[in-house]
Amino acid sequence: MTDPAAVRRALASWVGYLGEIGVRELALREPAAQDPGRRLAALRDEIGDCRRCKLCENRTNIVFGVGDPRAKLMFVGEGPGADEDAQGEPFVGRAGQKLNEMIRAIGLEREDVYIANIVKCRPPGNRDPEPDEVRTCSPFLFRQIESIGPKVIVALGSPAAKTLLETKTGITSLRGRWGSFRGIPVMPTFHPAYLLRSYTAENRRAVFDDLKEARARIDEAS
Ligand code: URA
Repeated sequence: MTDPAAVRRALASWVGYLGEIGVRELALREPAAQDPGRRLAALRDEIGDCRRCKLCENRTNIVFGVGDPRAKLMFVGEGPGADEDAQGEPFVGRAGQKLNEMIRAIGLEREDVYIANIVKCRPPGNRDPEPDEVRTCSPFLFRQIESIGPKVIVALGSPAAKTLLETKTGITSLRGRWGSFRGIPVMPTFHPAYLLRSYTAENRRAVFDDLKEARARIDEAS
């Protein structure tokens, strides 16, 4: 049936019938375009078997992101390491275990948040992503953020903080101070891999303080 008037008549008759049998409320399904999970899936499809930058040459898997598509809290790292490249999931190696601990320290589980990276393919030898790679890949992260609509983003380490906050300032100065990405509050903190390398009481306290700030901001917004 394609004639709009016929569709309207059929719909009116169907709604009339539902009324007669006692149905008083109809739930409208969320349109696909507004469903965060479907938007993320469409974005992943669009990335496809990406060859947009040179990082594709050495990767095993594209590491898109993981977690709750409706998460209030999102973590953004720098790029996949060897474990992530092998498994296709962000933060699954040692830094990932530490990140899981950090998430639990503020009363959440990994499944409650969304985790993604600035670049989706592993930079060789775990070097920092280069500017052209960040320029090419970060728009996909930005669209992930837009799809999810988190209340707070935690930027893990310098490359993530610099990209989201569009600054050249390093993480030591940025950490613990709220910034903003397109109106979403961003809390920069140390990368869990840095924390593992520099496992001092001072650094652990700093990260915990930053995460507590993030948690409080989410609770305020809920
Ligand atoms: N480090 C990151 O920045 N991201 C990962 O996914 C893993 C390690």
